[in-house]
Amino acid sequence: MKELVLKKTVFSYQGHSFSHDVYTCPQCGKVLIPKELAEGRIAKVEEQLEDK
Ligand SMILES: [Zn+2]
Repeated sequence: MKELVLKKTVFSYQGHSFSHDVYTCPQCGKVLIPKELAEGRIAKVEEQLEDK
């Protein structure tokens, strides 16, 4: 794995999309999703879906 670069990436999750700066591998394009994003933003989307 090469050195990761911070890149603004658009995520699509269960019909919702949002952008976030995440570390991406410039070689293979693999995205490292930070724990706080997975537990924060994505968890919020799940909450919003449950409210409906
Ligand atoms: Zn890589």
